[in-house]
Amino acid sequence: ESAINRIAAGEVVERPASAVKELVENSIDAGATRIDVTIADGGKTLIRVVDDGCGIAGPDLPLALSRHATSKIDGSDLLNIHSFGFRGEALPSLGAVGRLTITSRAGDEGASVHVAGGRMGDVRPAACARGTQVDLADLFYATPARLKFLRTDRAETQAVVDVIRRLAMAEPFVTFILRDATGGDTRTLFRADGETGDMFDALGGRLRAVLGRDFAENALPLDAERDGFHMTGFTALPTYSKGAAVAQYLNVNGRPVRDKMLLGALRAAYMDVMSRDRHPVACLFIDCDPTLVDVNVHPAKSEVRFRDPACVRGLIVSGIRHALAEAGH
Ligand code: ADP
Ligand code: MG
Repeated sequence: ESAINRIAAGEVVERPASAVKELVENSIDAGATRIDVTIADGGKTLIRVVDDGCGIAGPDLPLALSRHATSKIDGSDLLNIHSFGFRGEALPSLGAVGRLTITSRAGDEGASVHVAGGRMGDVRPAACARGTQVDLADLFYATPARLKFLRTDRAETQAVVDVIRRLAMAEPFVTFILRDATGGDTRTLFRADGETGDMFDALGGRLRAVLGRDFAENALPLDAERDGFHMTGFTALPTYSKGAAVAQYLNVNGRPVRDKMLLGALRAAYMDVMSRDRHPVACLFIDCDPTLVDVNVHPAKSEVRFRDPACVRGLIVSGIRHALAEAGH
């Protein structure tokens, strides 16, 4: 069991940022309105995620930590995936590669359980607020080979910031806080307070929080539809550009993705109006019936497979070109 967990863990958890992604997605799935993340030493020694979501009842804690136990899908429904989690792999994987403590309260009483090296201790009563706190210490301590492949604390921290920014962009109503507690003193790396209003207003506010006021001032709203695919979001004027890493936020059915086909479509939309060395800045939401897209391509879930990729590509290219043309480009 524990060897299988460790192998599977390597696919789900490549680096601290992927652990953060899995944990924060769980918090989002739990309906959290506030997600507070703390890391130390690039996430290598500590990743802590605290949320105010629905919590896990004490008796359910061992279940949440066992492989392929997910409360989010019944197996007959693999193509109809709405929530982030659907594999029941993240928590057992993290318990196999780090020292994991989950403290949670769903009802009146809180409980806590510790797992290290795939071995679970007893569930104990614990005092805590409603919601869940996950502490993951010493990631990869049990797999030194993987530890060696991690980059500098600075680079790993940057990857965590990027993951949080992408999730924050996808969930504008949720408050996200990311802190660095390396060496004992805590500093805030990122903060975006939950937006209010309708989705469009909320997204506008979140764009300012994540990309800055200058982007918001250069942003063109998008709204286009084709054969069951709907695209909304914002794209920037071609005169406005940022570094590749922070420029493109792509979401499919509410989930941040980093899909090659979608990135290619975004580039193609700007081909005639932007020089090759610049990066179009955009935040796109593609929504469709869940049966038109397979998000289960890779455990890390950043790639997707559309039933009709040409249609999605056409929607993005024509939708953005139309917006640019209306703005005089
Ligand atoms: P998945 O997200 O694919 O279901 P995970 O291993 O990530 O699998 O989580 C297992 C289960 O633990 C979830 O299905 C959920 O029931 C519970 N869980 C995990 N994190 C949280 C959380 N932050 N709040 C509430 N429940 C959680
Ligand atoms: Mg999950």
